[in-house]
Amino acid sequence: MTTKIQWAQNEDGSKGETWNPVVGCDPVSPGCKNCYAARQSARLFKQYGQVKYKGLISPRAGGDHFNGTIRTDDAWLQLPLRRRKGTTYFTCSMSDLHHERVPASFLHKVYAVMAHCQRHRFFVLTKRPQGMRDYIRPFYQGSMMKAADALGLRWEPGTFPSKQWPMSNIWAGTSVESQEYMPRVDRLRETPAVIRFVSQEPQLREVDWTGHLEGIDWVIIGGESGPGARPFFLEWASKTIEQCQDAGVSVFVKQLGDNPMTHRGRVGHFGPKGKDIDAWPAELRVRDMPRVAAA
Ligand code: SF4
Repeated sequence: MTTKIQWAQNEDGSKGETWNPVVGCDPVSPGCKNCYAARQSARLFKQYGQVKYKGLISPRAGGDHFNGTIRTDDAWLQLPLRRRKGTTYFTCSMSDLHHERVPASFLHKVYAVMAHCQRHRFFVLTKRPQGMRDYIRPFYQGSMMKAADALGLRWEPGTFPSKQWPMSNIWAGTSVESQEYMPRVDRLRETPAVIRFVSQEPQLREVDWTGHLEGIDWVIIGGESGPGARPFFLEWASKTIEQCQDAGVSVFVKQLGDNPMTHRGRVGHFGPKGKDIDAWPAELRVRDMPRVAAA
């Protein structure tokens, strides 16, 4: 499905895609409180009757929340294989691919498809980076090959399995909403990947990157949007931009959210979700993409 997420655009500037071979999740930290994927899942089932999303949500105080049900989807698994145009995929935008309940046998298939489709880029963003590290570090090549065989995949010359991990088309990311969750960045750093990225969205507190940017290629910043959006201070964004730029790390400000503040009070007419970049203070208009070093 096409996505408007700016950091997941295709390399030619056109819109990228979301790819959801896994749906469902459950909250792990305060950043999950107003989970967009949970709200969307509820809507897709209630309003549009999409059975893929049935039973994933338990309504609780404060909104719809994932209830821990995980569902895999063999039909969606195949979608990137059929798409010829080189595309950026946000992998599992409606779940967390490295949720503990995603069966290893299915994870092998997802990675087999990503490894096979070298014409595409896949951004894997997880709040469970220890699971991603533990999957990728030993690199379950034998299991992936079996999964690939089961899917009937044929390898193009020069691509997997002749290539070694990490692959240039699979970017590994984690989310950090506050300093307390900086250990996720340590787990990400231990994960072999050509590009390691951190989504600081929804950012809920100031984050100090001092001593944490080593081995990180890209930081995405965003304030929370939607019902119940929590405050996002523009000073937080300025600080991260400065620290990333000083360290030579690419930084991308996605949105200022629906509750932007400064230490002087509430600010801004930055449009829905705080996405009107033309209305932002000039110093926040930063949208770098990292580059994959030539092999
Ligand atoms: S980990 Fe991601 S998908 Fe899962 S509940 Fe939290 S925000 Fe939602």
